[in-house]
Amino acid sequence: MNRAVFLDRDGVVTADVHLLTTAEQLLLLPGVPAALRSLKDAGFLLLLVTNQTVVARGLITEGQLDQIHQRLQAMLQAAGAPPMDGIYVCPHHPRATLAEYRVACDCRKPRAGLLRRAAKEWNLHLPGCFMIGDRITDIAAGAQAGCRTVLVETGQHLAPAIETVEPVDLKTVPDWACADLSAAVRWIREAQ
Ligand SMILES: [Mg+2]
Ligand SMILES: [Zn+2]
Repeated sequence: MNRAVFLDRDGVVTADVHLLTTAEQLLLLPGVPAALRSLKDAGFLLLLVTNQTVVARGLITEGQLDQIHQRLQAMLQAAGAPPMDGIYVCPHHPRATLAEYRVACDCRKPRAGLLRRAAKEWNLHLPGCFMIGDRITDIAAGAQAGCRTVLVETGQHLAPAIETVEPVDLKTVPDWACADLSAAVRWIREAQ
């Protein structure tokens, strides 16, 4: 079986700009390329797991989001980082503007649907995997999937919780909390 690190996108890999709708808004956070390289060298798959309500809100299509993510992959490679092995997106929202995305899906974090889907596709041993996120909902998703969890305190950890179908357990405690992805990766390499 394989091991992966699940990475939230906004606030972990790229700057959280709130409702990112163009590739020009993508900005890799400091230290990200080296941190991803370190995880890859340690044998982890790199899997992005991201809630993207920009689709549910009708701001961009799923196809346009795919193009943004292709640009992200190119940016990572240009910066000397390994690309993501997989990118998993929840495009839904419980109060989506577009009716087709207005569902109580199982993939919007804090639910663990994206992680479980990835686990099937990659034959993952989830207790050997880690989830890194900047919101408590990321931590809840990782914990629910049976992964160890790391909260990076890049800003949104102080923001109100996102809207969810059921209340999030705000007392969910990450296994580790630290400043950014570089520090998270240092801890994972020791804790693995
Ligand atoms: Mg985030
Ligand atoms: Zn979803």
